[in-house]
Amino acid sequence: MAGFGGMSTPRHFTIVGAGLAGALLATLLAKRGWQVDVYERRGDPRVVGYAGGRSINLALAERGLHALRSADAADAVLDKAVMMRGRMVHFLDGSQQLQRYGRDDSEVIWSVSRGELNIVLIDAAEAAGARVHFDRRLDDVDFDTCMARFIDDRDGDTHAHAFTTLLGADGAGSALRHQISKHVDLGQRLESLGHSYKELEIPPTADGGFSIEPNALHIWPRGSYMCIALPNDERTFTVTLFLPNEGDPSFATVQSGADARALFQRDFADALPLIPALEHDFEHNPAGMLATLYLDRWHLDGRAVLLGDAAHAMVPFHGQGMNCAFEDCVALAAHLDANPDFADAFAAFEAERRPNAQAIQAMALENYLEMRARVDDADFLLQRALERQLAERHPQRFVPRYAMVTFRRLPYATALERGQVQRGLLVEATRGRDSLDAIDWDWLDAEVERRLPVLPVEA
Ligand SMILES: Cc1cc2nc3c(=O)[nH]c(=O)nc-3n(C[C@H](O)[C@H](O)[C@H](O)COP(=O)(O)OP(=O)(O)OC[C@H]3O[C@@H](n4cnc5c(N)ncnc54)[C@H](O)[C@@H]3O)c2cc1C
Repeated sequence: MAGFGGMSTPRHFTIVGAGLAGALLATLLAKRGWQVDVYERRGDPRVVGYAGGRSINLALAERGLHALRSADAADAVLDKAVMMRGRMVHFLDGSQQLQRYGRDDSEVIWSVSRGELNIVLIDAAEAAGARVHFDRRLDDVDFDTCMARFIDDRDGDTHAHAFTTLLGADGAGSALRHQISKHVDLGQRLESLGHSYKELEIPPTADGGFSIEPNALHIWPRGSYMCIALPNDERTFTVTLFLPNEGDPSFATVQSGADARALFQRDFADALPLIPALEHDFEHNPAGMLATLYLDRWHLDGRAVLLGDAAHAMVPFHGQGMNCAFEDCVALAAHLDANPDFADAFAAFEAERRPNAQAIQAMALENYLEMRARVDDADFLLQRALERQLAERHPQRFVPRYAMVTFRRLPYATALERGQVQRGLLVEATRGRDSLDAIDWDWLDAEVERRLPVLPVEA
């Protein structure tokens, strides 16, 4: 295949990190006939097993799926995914309610295993011609001579690699970001959420089935904290307990397995019998911290660029970190297609993606409050009922924000902006009401048309 713009020597890219974004980006670039080397800190997961460390499963939505389709990897991923139609809310009294995410089964999200997804993408990258080098941790970069040094953590050996340009997909703790920041002020700001998470497991039933409804994302909202559970295709659920770091209850007060059992007995009583290894999991699994990473700049001229969590790590409450990282990969590949000069391509990529990353970071933070404190609140439920009706009356204009983020691919910044207009309408129309009976539809329909232009159809 030809390289860029008919040039005789194909372009060469060095990607740092063969996680979710790195492996997908490698596939997309290698498919264009470009030379791609990927350096990954960990061992090959196909040989040594997947050393995940966090979030065993993830919600995959339309943005991520679209990116996977462009790498011909969507079918292999969906094959092992479990469909989630909506939130199954578990109330304190033990009752449950399914709140659908979309209109029907064409609007669902998918629970995928991080390890399996990563392996599908590494296979795809290699099949497309990328060379993936495992056990190579980026340690140091000399941007003047364009030499990168990697360390094999198994024996401490160092390996030097000459690069043309570095693409940083090495996650929230990015070593490349640290190296770039020695040359340019990235304007880095890390805002801790003040809450952390711990993963637990619901095993299959004795006869090998799912022990709760498989096609849902389960939520136990409890005000300032919550539990969620996502299904896995081997009939287990991964439960994530989110708690503040301080206060009561918090990871400061719930420290032992016995403390965890007492918390579950009081607040998650219907979940407790489903998690037989609660004490063990609680005491052995690490607590993961949650934070939002903001950068003012994502690249060092044409020599290096950051994407995915390395550029914009976010809290996980919209289930969009990976989806957004996958969108980054498609966008970066397109800007590299369109620009012969790396610096121009990286600048155009940053200009397109940074406002969108900031928008989904903001929405992810807002969604935490919604999930833990609003999904069981009467005002919220009334607004959601009205939202559904408006979406039916004005399908081209009034698309619930969750649907714009999850089932559409319009820019996140547009979803945030339109979501604010819509929220304003819902609050105004339901103020002082406890049902939709007396809604002034003439006024509301006219306001929707006035405030919300028709959304463009997506290709
Ligand atoms: C609890 C939790 C739940 C989540 N749930 C969802 C969800 O439901 N949906 C969703 O879309 N997103 C979710 N996310 C976010 C998602 O996990 C991330 O956004 C996504 O993993 C980002 O991909 P990435 O490739 O940028 O980084 P990563 O997946 O972190 O990959 C980085 C890779 O770089 C490698 N690496 C690191 N340092 C070096 C180095 N120095 N040299 C070489 N290699 C290196 C790592 O080993 C890794 O393979 C969740 C996150 C958390 C914490």
